Amino acid sequence: MFDDLPESICRRNAPLAPLTWFKLGGAAEYLITPRDENELATILRRCRESGTPVRYLGLGANVIVADEGVSGVVLRLDAPAFTSVSVDGPRVSAGAGVDMTRLVLRTVRQGLAGLENLAGIPGTVGGGITMNCGGRYGEIGTAVESVRVIGSDGRAYIRDHDDLCFSYRHSALGADCVVGAVFCLDPTDPAALERRFREILLYKQNTQPPLGAHSVGCIFRNPDGRSAGQIIDQAGLKGVRLGSAYVSDRHANFVLADEGGKASDVIKLIRLITERVEDATGTRLEPEVKIWSDHADAYDPASAAPERRDHRRARPVQGGADARPPIAFCPSMEGD
Ligand SMILES: Cc1cc2nc3c(=O)[nH]c(=O)nc-3n(C[C@H](O)[C@H](O)[C@H](O)COP(=O)(O)OP(=O)(O)OC[C@H]3O[C@@H](n4cnc5c(N)ncnc54)[C@H](O)[C@@H]3O)c2cc1C
Repeated sequence: MFDDLPESICRRNAPLAPLTWFKLGGAAEYLITPRDENELATILRRCRESGTPVRYLGLGANVIVADEGVSGVVLRLDAPAFTSVSVDGPRVSAGAGVDMTRLVLRTVRQGLAGLENLAGIPGTVGGGITMNCGGRYGEIGTAVESVRVIGSDGRAYIRDHDDLCFSYRHSALGADCVVGAVFCLDPTDPAALERRFREILLYKQNTQPPLGAHSVGCIFRNPDGRSAGQIIDQAGLKGVRLGSAYVSDRHANFVLADEGGKASDVIKLIRLITERVEDATGTRLEPEVKIWSDHADAYDPASAAPERRDHRRARPVQGGADARPPIAFCPSMEGD
């Protein structure tokens, strides 16, 4: 189906483990790294027409790929067209493939406040916005002014902050592919900002496993504002091991894996934690991590399914005749 694409951008049976933070899991049937928006749009249209599942991969810092791999297309936006940054006063435009850590450092050094709260969170701009990544110090969504996306119809849209309905680890992007974003930041004293950035980083270093450990950060969402980590700790699960996967001694919401570990061990351990916590406390923890699998028996069928193809309110970038109708509701608690 993608025979016309050069091997340099389209690989069959491409191992995904090296492209995820966990460094485990299987291959993608197709791994495609489009060179620009037009190529991305063509691929998305083709996938839609042929019913081929599509997934987007940033740094894989919140994704577990099943050992059997996934069918269909995995798109990764690491080409120069998706990794540029430009600064215009308080506005910073960044491509979806930009490494958040680098962007945060750059804005801190330029004395632009708003992204320093994301210190120590690995990922790309695209993944960060999709997940509305953040924590006790703030979330990325607060700084987002607008996001440029390509829909499955291959058309480009601008989605404004309000349309994205940012909430706890959620944005209403649906299946749109983020290609870039504009952040509106606050000019401030760079020295004070750098101090704050370092404080946040230090807090993380003191409370979490090392950033380079094989993990996806917090596995579960915090239920009703309570700490999932504390709940898991109270259920006596710190340090529990299942095959190559184990619960961190330092932060019980982190599951870590040995070098060369198996995704199936991690997924089984996630199930075990869920069951034990529910038995002990009556609270059912919900995963924050996205599990990519073709099989419905992976941990969470909702996240195992290919990215949904729904659409929210958006402004088309080119032409307006077939702009999609607005959808009135704001599904802040939707699965993905
Ligand atoms: C050590 C560690 C610490 C962490 N700490 C935190 C934390 O404090 N707070 C927090 O919120 N998270 C944390 N995380 C999780 C992770 O860093 C974030 O979720 C991050 O935003 C993931 O970005 P990514 O680019 O790696 O996305 P991926 O993991 O690659 O993808 C995540 C989701 O975003 C989608 N996606 C990726 N790119 C695009 C795109 N261009 N368009 C549309 N959808 C896209 C994927 O399909 C997937 O559904 C941590 C992870 C690790 C490993």
